[in-house]
Amino acid sequence: MKIALFDDYKVGVVKGDGIVDVSEIVGWDSAQPQASLVSLMSRYGHLQSVIEEGISDARIIPLQAVRLRASVPYPSKIVAAPVNYYLHQDEMNVQFNNAQYTVENLGFFLKAPSSIIGPGDTVLLPFRDRRTDHEAEIAFVVGRDAKDVPASEASKYIFGYFALMDITVRGKEDRPWRKSFDTFTPIGPWIVTADEMGNPNEVDLKLWVNDELRQATNTRTMIYDCYKFFEAASSVMTLRAGDIITTGTPEGVGPIVDGDTVRIWIERIGEFSVHVAYK
Ligand code: MN
Repeated sequence: MKIALFDDYKVGVVKGDGIVDVSEIVGWDSAQPQASLVSLMSRYGHLQSVIEEGISDARIIPLQAVRLRASVPYPSKIVAAPVNYYLHQDEMNVQFNNAQYTVENLGFFLKAPSSIIGPGDTVLLPFRDRRTDHEAEIAFVVGRDAKDVPASEASKYIFGYFALMDITVRGKEDRPWRKSFDTFTPIGPWIVTADEMGNPNEVDLKLWVNDELRQATNTRTMIYDCYKFFEAASSVMTLRAGDIITTGTPEGVGPIVDGDTVRIWIERIGEFSVHVAYK
């Protein structure tokens, strides 16, 4: 199932190129979208069949007629993998000489949840004289509280998957500073539930700036796959239902500038775009 937030933070299920409003069926409170999402996830085992029955003959709204919103709008934290693809490590060493280590030594970092934006929104660049890059990543939302979860059990704690851009100012400041400016975490286009997603560690991932393909990989080339990274993160901190985990970018990162359109696509998830402008 593809679960999307749209318009004034209603919740819907995506069917082809349309969406069905299921806010009433699931008891959704648009004024509290994050709490409503956590509640939905905790009841999904029961709700799944209720939703499917409820939408069988429901009105389908064309996706073009709605405004998609960030599908996980207010997590308590965003846990992010540094250097988690070997080819990205190579390019960072060549260009910046600052990636001697990978996720295995660096652990992880946190991005500010206030940096989240949704599909069609605009990334605002704070500097005209500093390089700011796109990073294409597969991310997921934690379905229930988790601590010390081994990789072999991690899939039971992941509710669903989506695409994430980890926008990054290059330079010597610590990662949370360089990656936490407002608008620096576009996510979307919706959550693909784990049962529909299947194995997240074998999907194609691509990113374009305007019409130029900048990044293309398959998630099987990650150093820590989604489940192993879940284990690493949950060994340190309690992951709360509704938290976001993002798994790092492959090679091909590059600058974005005023006027660009950035599009990310992940196999079995879908795609979305954001605009870029100077702040
Ligand atoms: Mn990243």
